[in-house]
Amino acid sequence: MPPETVEVRRSSRRRRTVSAYRDGEKTIVLLPAGLSSTDEEQWVRRMLDRLAAKEQRRRPSDDDLLERATDLSTRYLDGQATPSSVRWVENQQHRWGSCTPDHGTIRISTRLRGMPAWVVDYVIMHELVHLLVPSHGPRFWALVERYPRAERARGFLEGFSTATHGSQEDHGSPEEW
Ligand SMILES: [Zn+2]
Repeated sequence: MPPETVEVRRSSRRRRTVSAYRDGEKTIVLLPAGLSSTDEEQWVRRMLDRLAAKEQRRRPSDDDLLERATDLSTRYLDGQATPSSVRWVENQQHRWGSCTPDHGTIRISTRLRGMPAWVVDYVIMHELVHLLVPSHGPRFWALVERYPRAERARGFLEGFSTATHGSQEDHGSPEEW
């Protein structure tokens, strides 16, 4: 996994509570001011573990995926990509997502569950663009790049594949990714 950007914020007003949340690609950990650096280190680790566990449990449904896809299409593709369904699928060992442009169906690998929402959104975006442009040509990438975190998300996924498989994702045929 690529390194996380963690920002620790201490507040004298925050005496008892410790909390953590994601802010885009950053993780913010809020701590009381009086902690020693050893305690701080332990709390940060504990909060990161807790946050990751929470994200693992939070599994967006197929309906959530379709809603996110529709939202992404509206925001970045002028609503031109209109998927008929977006589903989680288990059997995609070598790709993150795939689609069938003729039917407007998109499938997202369950391996993405638990990854940050902006990474899942990138994979959805990639497949949405395939509904409009089947191959990975300049027009395809120009549309994908409308998603502001496209490059960062690719880096994240490449880091992840390298870590888990020792190689980059097999890009497969044009409609796969
Ligand atoms: Zn692709």
